[in-house]
Amino acid sequence: MRVLIVEDEVRLADTLGELLRTQKYSYDIVYDGEDGLAYAESGIYDVIILDIMLPKMNGFEVVRNLRKKKINTPVILLTARDEVSDKVKGLDSGADDYLTKPFSSEELLARIRALTRRQGEVVLDELTFSDLVLNLANYQLSCGGKSIHLGFKEFEIMRLLMANPAAVLSKDELLSKVWGYDSDAEDNNVEVYISFLRKKLQFLGSKVNIATVRRLGYHLEEN
Ligand code: CA
Repeated sequence: MRVLIVEDEVRLADTLGELLRTQKYSYDIVYDGEDGLAYAESGIYDVIILDIMLPKMNGFEVVRNLRKKKINTPVILLTARDEVSDKVKGLDSGADDYLTKPFSSEELLARIRALTRRQGEVVLDELTFSDLVLNLANYQLSCGGKSIHLGFKEFEIMRLLMANPAAVLSKDELLSKVWGYDSDAEDNNVEVYISFLRKKLQFLGSKVNIATVRRLGYHLEEN
């Protein structure tokens, strides 16, 4: 799961990032409304945490622009002001939820969970494909009686491949979802991790292989 934080108070933004990290969520942080909109338009996020009072473009405008562009990523608005009119305006502009500062970590996490469930992302304990089982809580990939631990990036790639078994995932898509929208990682980072995963699949003796579709990307196939 990847979260976008749009918050100009650097310390709060960092605190939110740390909080998300404890939940093993990936995240990006930007500090003004224009960057917020540009990042959110990529469509790679599962949730956007958006402050209202921001430099360059306020949170209401960011949501309104996103919704106009048919980007329906759930948005939680943050504000220091506890005013009913703000709340109404926020929800009218297309936000999904609203949190008044200061708020507790538990409350924010609960709202994030609620929104991602509502969007249809089922909270599963494991994913299966053919003879493989990926445990989403402890990053273990198993086949028959054998299992192996995956590193974070290996896990994220495997999770995407197993969650979209019919799709071919491009390197760009993997880069932005696993490494982040503004990361310096390049295509060959993806190749390196795919080769790690192939070795692990071999070790497990799985029938599953990560197939390369030239110029398009990767998908899982069963031998
Ligand atoms: Ca602010």
